[in-house]
Amino acid sequence: MQLAGSCHCGAVKFSLDSHTPYPYMRCYCSICRKTAGGGGYAINIMGDAATLKIRGAKHLSVYRARIAEGGGTRKTLSKGRRHFCAKCGSALWLWDPRWPQWVYPFASAIDTPLPKPPQEVEMMLDYAPPWAEIPSGEGHTHYREFPDEAIIDWHRARGLEVA
Ligand SMILES: [Zn+2]
Repeated sequence: MQLAGSCHCGAVKFSLDSHTPYPYMRCYCSICRKTAGGGGYAINIMGDAATLKIRGAKHLSVYRARIAEGGGTRKTLSKGRRHFCAKCGSALWLWDPRWPQWVYPFASAIDTPLPKPPQEVEMMLDYAPPWAEIPSGEGHTHYREFPDEAIIDWHRARGLEVA
């Protein structure tokens, strides 16, 4: 399906095709929380980078977090590029050169009505702030860090991949 998205002030608009539009995965990492997740988390979905069309690209800015990877303490520049509107600050999408064929829009930036996920994943819970309400119980799967199921596999396993 084609997804249309925009920032709050309207300076940046974008569209892309997605086979994996279910916003099922809440990420509680500190980057998502600080840059996009007032509820303690943000939700990324996934689309095809080759189909990404951008209007107002000159208003985009890119944030690369400094993070410690692999359990070490030395911080390096994250490969993930978090695109946001430089005028209004809306978080728009993440793109990572390690997986260049995909782009990961924030569900919050998408204007097209997204399908409601039948189940949800809560991830990066080791980094959740104590005040965040973490949904649990039936239909919720928790991960301390990254889930072991990729976004595409989650959709396929549930018959939710969209043509
Ligand atoms: Zn804006």
